[in-house]
Amino acid sequence: DTFQQFSLSRPLLRALAALNFSIPTPIQVRTVPVALRGLDVVGSAQTGSGKTAAFLLPILERLLYRPRKIPTTRVAILMPTRELAVQCHAVAVALARFTDITFAQVIGGMNLREQETILKKRPDVVIATPGRFIDHMRNSASFAVENLEILVLDEADRMLEQGFTDELDEILKTIPRSRQTMLFSATMTSSVDKLVRIGMNKPVRLSV
Ligand code: AMP
Repeated sequence: DTFQQFSLSRPLLRALAALNFSIPTPIQVRTVPVALRGLDVVGSAQTGSGKTAAFLLPILERLLYRPRKIPTTRVAILMPTRELAVQCHAVAVALARFTDITFAQVIGGMNLREQETILKKRPDVVIATPGRFIDHMRNSASFAVENLEILVLDEADRMLEQGFTDELDEILKTIPRSRQTMLFSATMTSSVDKLVRIGMNKPVRLSV
């Protein structure tokens, strides 16, 4: 397998080469083509499997080939911890280095007002922890969610374990239904299944 087998744009292939990612991992081989078709994906995958690039590559590809004239936030990626959000942001910036796609981290511990200023500029992609995401979502002056096209729930089992069930329900109810949703989880518990049932549309299930 090679990354050339996916129809990815040149700036993404260049970034993969610069990162020395030459062979896609199994979760990437399975996820990228399905996600590029716009389908909902449920992936059981652990940290270390390469799942971050598995969901980021199709997201970046969509942003590139369907640009918007007016800046608007199109993607939300939710992670259970600040550390994971920071790591995901670093991978995203590295994969998008040859594009002009913009990112914002929206995590606890950072100044709310500063984050509002960043969100008002309508970054393409917001990488967030659920609590902080809700804080901004409720304060719609700073954060417009009505144009979100893609939602990623990463480490869904851990987000639920950390007590974010109500936050996730509220987010799923508030953001547009006509979105693509990707969910990743190391374990498929009944509460993860419930999230899949309420938040997803005929998901393709992938496991590695
Ligand atoms: P993740 O499971 O997304 O946290 O990724 C685990 C590690 O694998 C990270 O350090 C990535 O930079 C790296 N990685 C992801 N995909 C590839 C790939 N196709 N080739 C080499 N390294 C990769």
